[in-house]
Amino acid sequence: VGRRINLPELRCTVCGAAGEGGWRCRCGGPLDLPEAVVTGVDRLSGAGLRRYAPFVPLPAEMLERVSLGEGGTALVAAGDLPGVWLKLEFVSPTGSFKDRGAAVLVASALTRGAAALVADSSGNAGSAIAAYAARAGLACTVFVPSGTSPAKQGQIRAYGADLRVVGGDRSAAAEAAIAAVSPETGSTYASHVYDPMFLQGTKTFAYECWEQLGRAPDAVVVPVGNGTLALGAFRGFRELLAGGLVDRMPRLIAVQSERCAPLAAAWASGEAVPAKVPPAPATVAEGIAIRTPARGAQVLAAVRSTRGCVLSVPEAAIAPAQADLGRRGLLVEPTAAVAWAAALLLSRHPAMAAVAVDRSGWRDAGVSGTMVVPLCGSGLKTA
Ligand SMILES: [Zn+2]
Repeated sequence: VGRRINLPELRCTVCGAAGEGGWRCRCGGPLDLPEAVVTGVDRLSGAGLRRYAPFVPLPAEMLERVSLGEGGTALVAAGDLPGVWLKLEFVSPTGSFKDRGAAVLVASALTRGAAALVADSSGNAGSAIAAYAARAGLACTVFVPSGTSPAKQGQIRAYGADLRVVGGDRSAAAEAAIAAVSPETGSTYASHVYDPMFLQGTKTFAYECWEQLGRAPDAVVVPVGNGTLALGAFRGFRELLAGGLVDRMPRLIAVQSERCAPLAAAWASGEAVPAKVPPAPATVAEGIAIRTPARGAQVLAAVRSTRGCVLSVPEAAIAPAQADLGRRGLLVEPTAAVAWAAALLLSRHPAMAAVAVDRSGWRDAGVSGTMVVPLCGSGLKTA
């Protein structure tokens, strides 16, 4: 049992109780850290995620030790859509934004003396955690549902992880992972959904948007399954706001695939918790097909507080959005095209001329000014 650091106090996002050392609250709710205040930015140095080490509650040398050069992704103008910017998260060491969270999560596990990690994922988070575990010299077991694409399974194996394919859906993989954790042998549950350190990594997305634009955008349009990027972006901008570095929050426009949209359904009916949705028919947006997002209530509250909204895009909009990005020189996987589909639909772009949308759920979605759309996962994963 290794050296421990003094983490700021963990609190349950559901009942408000203090954390007791487990990976979630006694009530089942996910835990979170208090928000930091971003100050002293004139002293920031270096590139990528490590630039923001002063705002991550870990020893900087631990982040340095596990870093694979994540973060620092380019922000490029969309060109024909004025004010719209694309943030190239797919240009990350394992090909997705999950590297931001995985770097911090694995550095935290290493700091706490973990000997082995157990994770569950539909693909990209598993790859990211496997890669950073390899970098840190930690053994790693990743549980994935049987529907995970062969290419993503191969990527996880390539990082030396012990890949276990579980029959059933995403939640069956999570249950198998939790059952496999054995504190006696030093293994720890490295959950990108529950571990609050993951959001300490994804919050750097917001810091970068702020530094690249010189201010906060008016809106961030983000694909949402478990919501780890949406919540990270929210936290990052809140911390910038607390530090007086931005004068308001960007509106958070969260986007789901209509074939698996528990948050969009909750939003449409004014509910504060994810709606119960039936087992989804297959969607090409496999990375966000999450029926029961554990931090779903947190996502809905975050979106509401920014006067944003949750949308769902038709399945028929995803492939044209992916193709449109390809013609802009940007190769992303289908899941990563979901937010772009929403951005094109919002701006009534000709690429979406053939796609019919029920606009009733889009009444809150009028977006003007500067919009950032992250492109979350590489098309090389599915090419
Ligand atoms: Zn609780």
